[in-house]
Amino acid sequence: LTSTDPHDQRLTPAIGIDIGGTKILAVRLNEAGEVASWKKVSTPAGSAGIVEAVIGVAGELAGGDELSIGVGCPGMVDRRGKVNFAPNLHGMDGVDMAAELGARWRGPVSVTNDATCAAWSEFRLGAAQGYDTVVMVTLGTGIGGGIIANGHLITGAHGFAGEIGHAVIDPHGPPCPCGQRGCWERFASGSGLGRIAREAAIADKAPGLVELAGGDPEAVRGEHVTQAAAAGDPGAIEVMANFAWWLALGLANLSNTFDPDAIVLGGGLIEAGEVLMGPARRAFAELVEGNEYRQVAILPATLGERAGAIGAALIGSGR
Ligand SMILES: [Zn+2]
Repeated sequence: LTSTDPHDQRLTPAIGIDIGGTKILAVRLNEAGEVASWKKVSTPAGSAGIVEAVIGVAGELAGGDELSIGVGCPGMVDRRGKVNFAPNLHGMDGVDMAAELGARWRGPVSVTNDATCAAWSEFRLGAAQGYDTVVMVTLGTGIGGGIIANGHLITGAHGFAGEIGHAVIDPHGPPCPCGQRGCWERFASGSGLGRIAREAAIADKAPGLVELAGGDPEAVRGEHVTQAAAAGDPGAIEVMANFAWWLALGLANLSNTFDPDAIVLGGGLIEAGEVLMGPARRAFAELVEGNEYRQVAILPATLGERAGAIGAALIGSGR
């Protein structure tokens, strides 16, 4: 996939569907690439129920038109659309999603990693429009990634490019569901923020967070940090700065590897705003090689929860 100027190209109407752990979000894009209609349903348990739900929402949004469907799915999705390993989506390991959906849908079907889809949509239609080389980092329970290098979406030989959350940054760090220790997402995801915050709370360094958590340091969550830091609580601001350093460490590694001119940060944590972005930008400048020779914009995502579905629609329709 390549891009010139997206505004020069008319898009064909297309359906995009993002399969998440709790919800399935589907969009129909019109010729201009705008969301014409969209729908959200809860994710059923098991692959058969998920296939059923995807076909159901796609049928509603298509309304009888023979449109392409692009699907974004978490985990290690190969280039043929088989879900090899999806630790955050129960019952999907080994499911050939593209084949299952293709057997039930008249139009073209493609299945791609969800974070790769989100990166493509932010590049084509969102925060990173007009940039050349973009790394998108989605901070959720884990960390998802997508990479655009010199305008080209990088999928990798197998389709697994962008599994950046599992880059090991501390071999003696906390265990990760993937089987390694000290993966970047153990430190810099939403759950990583919760873990760093609980450590601070237990060490009596964040009384404001303990208070928000009802007096129990073990009950401190990431949301408490964003809330308290925005309100100016010094302990929470310290936790956020610590978290921002771990985030920036991974961003610096990615910049040393891909040399982006934009890094887009997505996920609910981004709502923390400058409380997070400020310390992250400052730590990044110190950690990346030769910051003075680069111009790297670190930007919040703009397409929100629909980014994955929009990107899936674009990829599914060859845009
Ligand atoms: Zn891992």
